[in-house]
Amino acid sequence: MKTFATTIGFFALAVSAVPSTYRRPGLVQSNQLRRDLTRSALLEHAKKLQEFAEVTPEITRVAGSRGHNLTVDYIYDTLVKTGYYDVELQPFTYVFSEGNVTISAAGTSYESQYFQYAPGGTVEAPLISVSNFGCDAADFPTTVSGNIALVSRGTCEFGLKVALAGAAGAKGIIIYNNVLGPVGGGTLGPDERPEGKYIPAGSLSQEDALSLISKLNNGTSITANLDVDALIETRYTNNVIATSKCGDQSNIVFSGGHTDSVQAGPGINDDGSGSMGILEIALQLTKFTVNNAVRFGFWSAEEFGLLGSEHYITTAPAEELAKISLYLNFDMIASPNFGYFIYDGDGSAFNTTGPAGSDHIEHLFEDYLASVGIKTAPTEFDGRSDYGPFLEVNIPSGGLFTGAEGLKTPEEAIWWGGEAGVAYDVNYHAPGDDITNLNMGAWIQNTKAAAHAIATYAVSTEGIPKRTGQQKRGVKSDKPKARCGEDIPIAVM
Ligand SMILES: [Zn+2]
Repeated sequence: MKTFATTIGFFALAVSAVPSTYRRPGLVQSNQLRRDLTRSALLEHAKKLQEFAEVTPEITRVAGSRGHNLTVDYIYDTLVKTGYYDVELQPFTYVFSEGNVTISAAGTSYESQYFQYAPGGTVEAPLISVSNFGCDAADFPTTVSGNIALVSRGTCEFGLKVALAGAAGAKGIIIYNNVLGPVGGGTLGPDERPEGKYIPAGSLSQEDALSLISKLNNGTSITANLDVDALIETRYTNNVIATSKCGDQSNIVFSGGHTDSVQAGPGINDDGSGSMGILEIALQLTKFTVNNAVRFGFWSAEEFGLLGSEHYITTAPAEELAKISLYLNFDMIASPNFGYFIYDGDGSAFNTTGPAGSDHIEHLFEDYLASVGIKTAPTEFDGRSDYGPFLEVNIPSGGLFTGAEGLKTPEEAIWWGGEAGVAYDVNYHAPGDDITNLNMGAWIQNTKAAAHAIATYAVSTEGIPKRTGQQKRGVKSDKPKARCGEDIPIAVM
């Protein structure tokens, strides 16, 4: 940041000391915008995020942490300095939750993860195996009362299982995975449930649980110790929203990514890659003019349940939402064992068709990536990231994704290289999601693809249907046009 200020100082001096020449900034073009995006610039942003995560010993940028607040400040300050955008911080409150769980049974300690919003407490009591999936009150035997319920993952959400166990009088609940491996944490959801009160909860891997269950089935009684250390409190955080001062303000081309990580790690791929990719595009875009306003949303508390984007959408007046022509989402675009996935907006692969225009966005990404020789595949358009709230209000959406906990198929390994049978990101939601585990090639290619879409739609949104309530396009903003579109002096020494 210091370097930036010095540059500005020199620039101003140079302009006043010598006759300036002027350059009229041109209308943005995809190839020009892409040319100015570099791996080294992306890596500089990633280094910042890693530094922010490391200001606390936990090495995290979870919403509400110091590492996250520094991330938000960095984005805000960087965009304000350009003068090109109207930048606002959008504060909102949410219920923060973090915790640690230890489980031991019959003298053995087990790996366990915390479920967000589970209350703290220590329980030492017999384990009672629950039949089915614990999604129905009738699944819980009367013997569970006063004891610890042992329940399989699956069929219904974690929160329902925990509430039903609470209603059955259990003092604690352990949810084990329904496939090999650990559950990897999860959320119960912040809201109280009518079915029952939450009780201390922790997770177990399927392997560990099955060995315990086989002993229980032999009639052996097992006393377990479940210790949940939890912090649950109301906090506030900020979205950062930046809109170009120029361009048609009734035809907004919107892109977004989330600024927070999970508690477990620094989140440099998830979603440092998407948020810093669009930040760098936002910086390079300032060299150009646009026909349509370009907006960037840097969402907070995505990992608590898309809370930032949800807050934005639910609090924006309908006439403001009608001005958004489309939304592009970038969440995890540098996975180490990457795939080149595009959200299936036309529903051709997963049968979940997005609002009309989502197909246009999908095809734009397909065509661009094909043109640079990259094979792509569709990915489920299931609302798992910040485009979910946009779909809810019928805004055409799309985006790119390089994969999370899913496993790369042998066919995909032929297309893209990497290892078949291994997760796209083995560090997903884990401490290893750090600066050493990014795929820079995938990151720059996806950032350029994002820039192509932004530049293309910033010039024209033809092909995207006009939305209900959207004004006639081309209506001039009542705001005076600033900077963008004016002559920019060029230093000549
Ligand atoms: Zn994410």
